[in-house]
Amino acid sequence: MDTTLIVGACQAGVQLASVMRDLGDTDSIILIGEEAHRPYQRPPLSKGWLKSELTPDDVILRSREWFAGRGIELISGDRVVTVHRDPDGSGTATTLGGRVIRFTRLALTTGASVRRLTVAGTDYRGVHYLRDADDALTLEPALREPDVDHVVVIGGGFIGLETAAVARQLGKSVTVLEAGPRLVGRVVAEETSAFYLAAHRRRGTEVVLDARITRIVGDDASAAGQKGSVTGVELADGRIVPADLVVVGIGVVPRVELADQLGLEIDNGIVVDATCRASDGRTVAAGDCASMPNPYPLGLGGRVRLESVNNALEQAKIAAATLLGRPEPYVSVPWFWSDQADLKLQIAGLSTGYDEVVVRGEPDSEKFGVLYYRDGRLIAADMVNRPAEFMAVRHALMKGHTIPPDAAADVDVPLKQSVIDPAALAA
Ligand code: NAP
Repeated sequence: MDTTLIVGACQAGVQLASVMRDLGDTDSIILIGEEAHRPYQRPPLSKGWLKSELTPDDVILRSREWFAGRGIELISGDRVVTVHRDPDGSGTATTLGGRVIRFTRLALTTGASVRRLTVAGTDYRGVHYLRDADDALTLEPALREPDVDHVVVIGGGFIGLETAAVARQLGKSVTVLEAGPRLVGRVVAEETSAFYLAAHRRRGTEVVLDARITRIVGDDASAAGQKGSVTGVELADGRIVPADLVVVGIGVVPRVELADQLGLEIDNGIVVDATCRASDGRTVAAGDCASMPNPYPLGLGGRVRLESVNNALEQAKIAAATLLGRPEPYVSVPWFWSDQADLKLQIAGLSTGYDEVVVRGEPDSEKFGVLYYRDGRLIAADMVNRPAEFMAVRHALMKGHTIPPDAAADVDVPLKQSVIDPAALAA
């Protein structure tokens, strides 16, 4: 009888357990997560949850009955602190709460933790991060406090911009401070960044690019032993941007402590092969914590670590099959989405290494797309408020098809009609 221990009760961890059952595993499965909440979806935290549109039931992934019915032992609110494997491959994990868990199979779905800002003043009251449910439970009411007028968002990535959009919708004065020369620069082309800069400014958000933050400033504590409240964010040019509340969204760091204890290879995450197997040949890893061979057939190759729900779900399926001795290489067309005010961004493919972009439609109309090409072939697209065209692109990429650049630029022809099979053309 095997015991599978899955460390990390997030989307990847729950999916891995679920797929193991689907594949016929009837042995013991233990899923452990350090958060006290039942496993939940993370994407709504910076969207519907912040907008007060959701209840906990809307974000919970599976009911207690579901776990019980599938014979998956869920341990919440306890953290694995040490793990080791014996020469026969079995192992032991111990938890902060004093549990000792013996296992024969191990999956690490440990995710990523929020990157912390390292300047002085981050411990003032009113400085928030947004990564987990507790963060969201604190931030959602804090944003609504009547004495919060000025909100400063540090980081112009997805977390920062989604949060800024909600704060603006709540009528706050909002300033986004982005370290780079453009918004969401890690993920999208200049054209998409420029659109988001204009769109947020149109909605009344101030955006400072190339922002160098030197410290967070605050007032004196009103009571002994209590930290004062944030009053502003100081920039390198001496300017202090007023703030009653600060949200920091400057990225995440993969959680590799347990992999490190096991002596697994680590390189911007837990190094796994295409079947999610780590360097010991036994442990599997999936989700935000895993650094894998690029699964995107039209990608550049090399290793990637993808921070997205789609990747967590798809990679966990591969990891489950590997644990059950049925390894298959992970192949995928990655996709992402981001909701900012009434702007729905959907991204298909990975644009790394593009040499040409085509802008389809007029960005100022707030319904347009940016299509990425390498050597004349479509590799990715950012679609804003164009869900049908996003689906057309995604399906084309899944089939290895392309859309000629001049056809992509022609808004009078539906994108779907312009999809061609490069193999058929070459034949
Ligand atoms: P992110 O996408 O990495 O963006 C962080 C941004 O903060 C980057 O633009 C970065 O600029 C900037 N930055 C870094 N250090 C800074 C500093 N000291 N001062 C000001 N700006 C700084 O990370 P995130 O927005 O925090 O999101 C965290 C994770 O959640 C990501 O994986 C993200 O993809 C995921 N997420 C996804 C969605 C979605 O798919 N819709 C929504 C929310 C979150 P540089 O690039 O120049 O360093």
